[in-house]
Amino acid sequence: MDHHQPAPEGTPLYVHLPFCVHLCPYCDFFSVDGKGQDVDGFLDTLLLEAEARAPKAPRTVFFGGGTPTYLSEPQLQRLLLGLDELTGFRASAEEVTVECNPESLTLPKAQLMRSLGVDRLSIGVQSLDPETLAFFERPHGPEQALAAVEATRSAGFERFSIDLIHGSPTEELATTERNLLQLLELRPQHVSAYGLTYEPGTPLHARLEREEFVPQDEDQELANLDSVHRLLEDAGLRGYEVSNYSSIGQECLHNVNYWHNGPYVGIGPSAASHAQGTRSGNPRSIPRWRAAKQADPMAAAFEEHLDPRARLGETWWLGLRLAEGVDPEVARTTAGWVAAEDPAVGEAEALVAEGLLELLAGRYRLTPRARPLADHVGRQFLV
Ligand code: SF4
Repeated sequence: MDHHQPAPEGTPLYVHLPFCVHLCPYCDFFSVDGKGQDVDGFLDTLLLEAEARAPKAPRTVFFGGGTPTYLSEPQLQRLLLGLDELTGFRASAEEVTVECNPESLTLPKAQLMRSLGVDRLSIGVQSLDPETLAFFERPHGPEQALAAVEATRSAGFERFSIDLIHGSPTEELATTERNLLQLLELRPQHVSAYGLTYEPGTPLHARLEREEFVPQDEDQELANLDSVHRLLEDAGLRGYEVSNYSSIGQECLHNVNYWHNGPYVGIGPSAASHAQGTRSGNPRSIPRWRAAKQADPMAAAFEEHLDPRARLGETWWLGLRLAEGVDPEVARTTAGWVAAEDPAVGEAEALVAEGLLELLAGRYRLTPRARPLADHVGRQFLV
């Protein structure tokens, strides 16, 4: 897609709001401490970018961050009403998700969002263990997390997700299990359960390098993954993606489109966009993003054009994260691959021989033993 053309009607929309109450030491997203930030000025630029780049009538909208609920009620109202005026998302979208954190999700905010077209909240609980929350430097305790879920329900949200991080060095397997069982009592219909990772450049990675704590070893990590998977599936939540579980019909449509390697438009600093083999992204800094968008709202900080071979590899890499696996013919269509020979199928067959993939009803998918290795297996397809 020529980046000067707006995306086709219906394209999913991602909106990045980078402000947080406190920066978590493990965080690898583009986020900033909200104190002293010009949030209103930020919204001016965001709506300017939306006017130029946001698709009309998006099928799904996802407000991520950062912490979107860091915004005050009037700011949230301005954002949601302004975006609706520009895109008509309230009439068009099948799913509108806002990520929120317990310390800033109040009942009035939840009610406001519900009344302005948001129908799904993704709540960053991370853990109910006080020691783990302290290690993560989360500005909320377990009670606040439970209150946030309560507020979500009271405001009339039928759809919400609880986000968890397992594998903290502060947790024994028994703590993780006890935590999870307590959360399952809240009967969430969607849970995202990610293993803690130490991304280079984060404060937690630096502390690890300085040997300030002992991380979980590989056996502990595998035991966690196994136990979390079993407890969630026993509770009726199907692992539809490597780290995402839901009851039937409660999958996050916005993210499933991402794993299908579908098109999307992202607005806000650091937000990425994807359309027909072109990946582009915004500057990872508020001042640079604002300056760039004020000069040309369509401008991208980077733009990369992928040929069909690279797109085929990406489609498999992303698609293998899903329990449904990959249909080679669908992958070829997504990637625009027309040659008679399909190199991805050759790769998939080699992985079947290694016991990492299986072929069922025309779709290749990870074997249970390969689930913890999803990224490693998927990467075999990248060129
Ligand atoms: S709240 Fe989320 S986005 Fe903000 S610093 Fe923590 S992990 Fe990062």
